[in-house]
Amino acid sequence: MPNRIVEVLSGGLCTACGACVNICPYIRNIEDRIAIIEDCNVEEEGRCYYYCPRTFLDVDELNEFVFGRRRSEEDVILGCHTSVLAARAKSEAIRKNAQYGGVASALIAHAIETGEIEAAVLTSGGDGGGLLPMPIVAKSKDEVLSCAKTKYFMGASLSALNKALKDGFESLGVVGTPCQVQALRKMQAYGDAVESGGIYEEIDVSKSIKLVIGLFCMWSLSYDFLWYLSKHVEPSAVRKLDIPVGGFLIFGERFKKELPLEEVKRYVRRACDVCYDMTAELADISVGALEGVPDWNTVILRTERGEHIFREAEAAGVLEVKELEAERLEHLRWASLRKKAKAWRRIRELKAEFLKISELERKIVERFRLEEE
Ligand SMILES: Cc1cc2nc3c(=O)[nH]c(=O)nc-3n(C[C@H](O)[C@H](O)[C@H](O)COP(=O)(O)OP(=O)(O)OC[C@H]3O[C@@H](n4cnc5c(N)ncnc54)[C@H](O)[C@@H]3O)c2cc1C
Ligand code: SF4
Ligand code: SF4
Repeated sequence: MPNRIVEVLSGGLCTACGACVNICPYIRNIEDRIAIIEDCNVEEEGRCYYYCPRTFLDVDELNEFVFGRRRSEEDVILGCHTSVLAARAKSEAIRKNAQYGGVASALIAHAIETGEIEAAVLTSGGDGGGLLPMPIVAKSKDEVLSCAKTKYFMGASLSALNKALKDGFESLGVVGTPCQVQALRKMQAYGDAVESGGIYEEIDVSKSIKLVIGLFCMWSLSYDFLWYLSKHVEPSAVRKLDIPVGGFLIFGERFKKELPLEEVKRYVRRACDVCYDMTAELADISVGALEGVPDWNTVILRTERGEHIFREAEAAGVLEVKELEAERLEHLRWASLRKKAKAWRRIRELKAEFLKISELERKIVERFRLEEE
């Protein structure tokens, strides 16, 4: 019986989250690809199997682990949460350097400065003008701010988490995409289920991760996109990418260019077609865009821990917070349900079996009529 990770890789399901990297000498990350360089002797249930979001994903089980309960009908579309808000960093300097309102950077920097966490696993820009993701462990506010802005490629960030845990960090924050948050929660929930082989001896993965900030995500791009991009601009001159409604914008120091979104979408990773989570439903706090308002974020508070850290940052004057208008909340719910319905349809077309949802959830998702858009 082959190792199940082989099926994830050969089936085009790998998100490049990085959870299986740096826990096994046979698995390597090259750009946005994961490769098994030699066959291992573990049959189907090694540590990679338990961590990978595409081997199995039992939504109710993970909700019980994170929130202490299964999802009610009300939770199906946006995941368990206590509130949905609009927020932004109060510091104009943070906002200017950020993708949108800078909430992700401001929260992590504040959590480090107040000692809530000692460091955070983030994604900085690599070579090529900051376009390509490079996982790092940020230990200071400056390092956190150097990771601001969205890199629309996958950077296997959880490989840095695995290394940080091995290096002995005991109190970490993580910022990641929904698939990375899924893998992270699987690491916490099932970390004890397999023999460590000496990798995590003495380390409690579950207790070492103190704050999980999830980013909204519709899709990410494969590295092949760089070839397409280079036909329009020099990639190393790009300082920021953005995807406002219906467009794809490229910003350099002295230029702004728009590319047709439909052409860009040809380079979306195939693994994103079966992604069922737009709002990082297993995070402590989820952060996304506030459409049409470039320097604000939409924020979903989910766990007690997330609520505490967010409110403390608000009270300390780090964040500015306001209500989210009802129409925006309705649009967010629509977009999230639409992503679920598309993914669910694709999962059935491919006969992929990794996702387990309740009957109630299945009915809600199947009721959404994609053809009526
Ligand atoms: C691939 C991708 C697709 C996204 N798609 C959407 C979308 O469709 N709709 C939406 O509302 N929001 C989307 N987002 C989230 C959005 O772009 C912002 O990251 C989010 O709103 C936080 O904004 P901010 O101003 O607080 O971020 P900043 O304060 O600028 O901080 C950005 C944070 O994102 C992290 N980061 C950057 N790139 C990556 C990466 N590739 N992988 C993991 N972490 C990364 C950095 O470590 C940093 O902590 C996407 C993000 C990513 C990475
Ligand atoms: S754990 Fe992540 S990187 Fe590894 S195979 Fe699964 S999806 Fe890909
Ligand atoms: S769409 Fe899903 S699988 Fe693709 S990068 Fe975003 S969270 Fe990961």
